[in-house]
Amino acid sequence: MIYDHGLLDELGNFINILKRYDKLYIYGAAHNQKMLAKYLDICGISTRGFVTSETLGDIAFPAGAGVILGLSDKYYNEAYPRLVTREKPIDVIFLSERAKHTISYKVTPRQPDEYNIEINLADHCNLNCQMCDHFSQLVKEPCFLDIDECERDLNRLSELSGGRLGIIKLLGGEPLLNEDIVKCLKTVRRYFADTPVWIYTNGLLLLSPRMEAFWTACKEYDCAIELTPYPMTGLDIMAIRRKAAEREVDLRLTEVCEKYSLKYQLSAHRLESGYAFVDCYQKNHCNVLKNGKIYACPMSAYIHYFNEYFNRDFRISESDHIDIHETSSFEEIAEFASRPVPFCGYCDIAHREFHEWKRSERLISEYI
Ligand code: SF4
Ligand code: SF4
Repeated sequence: MIYDHGLLDELGNFINILKRYDKLYIYGAAHNQKMLAKYLDICGISTRGFVTSETLGDIAFPAGAGVILGLSDKYYNEAYPRLVTREKPIDVIFLSERAKHTISYKVTPRQPDEYNIEINLADHCNLNCQMCDHFSQLVKEPCFLDIDECERDLNRLSELSGGRLGIIKLLGGEPLLNEDIVKCLKTVRRYFADTPVWIYTNGLLLLSPRMEAFWTACKEYDCAIELTPYPMTGLDIMAIRRKAAEREVDLRLTEVCEKYSLKYQLSAHRLESGYAFVDCYQKNHCNVLKNGKIYACPMSAYIHYFNEYFNRDFRISESDHIDIHETSSFEEIAEFASRPVPFCGYCDIAHREFHEWKRSERLISEYI
């Protein structure tokens, strides 16, 4: 499997081109173009405003101005001729449809029912894959969720979100290692009655006799099981499917991780490529709730395991998380998710690559 860096290459070129202009405008003034302006502002590029077909004739563009064609490609035939047939034509700067949509999607703050939260029920794992983005294979001592603290956090998040989120993902490490998992499911449901709850597991414990109460709880609290069948684990998929059908539990199989691990390449020094965060699938998607705070992603939330194991110092600052008990509105949480955090500077997305899946040898070369 090849990691597609085409978007990142395009954005790098795009930003470099924009730096040649000190007077930039965006053609279009709807949501996607406003999100493009927000993204450029994050990247340190200022724009002078929006141009539309109605306002185009009124603007006296200064010398050296450029206009970014921010509208969808379907408006190209309408917009482009207007810009280049003016008495004084101006430079028009293009962006692919993919880039326009990705930027808008990544920097748009989510509504509560579009906003996902991840909670580790156990930080450690019984499989220990290489390159785990939760650093689970590097956890030295078993570490379980503090349910009482999590209950306070869920209560607060429920107040802020009106009791409904996109998806609550319970994972780890391996969540089924947590012997209080039934209590965890019950607690989540107490505060989020209608939110989809998905439990991500490698499945190794699903058929264990001690999991009977877990299957009952999945049915009772309407929680789905997301099973990732890794190679060479000897999982009896048919037996697990039968079990789920018997217990009337929603079981989904995630095939995508079956044979590949993604190397999340960390850089020892913070990178200057502040535009790259929109090419990270975790951004504005894998928000981690941990100890009263929300982190941008598992990498930033659990980097302390990496630091402890390899004696490194990838820093987490106050700006890398948002404290839900000190936040007055859900909008602040959603806005936080839609912007890069300082830790993003350590992520060398341009060098992310897929490797064949295998168990971890706990080498730093799995990340650096
Ligand atoms: S099974 Fe999942 S949590 Fe466990 S080491 Fe592998 S990727 Fe990480
Ligand atoms: S720190 Fe930023 S770029 Fe790195 S994985 Fe997290 S969200 Fe993505």
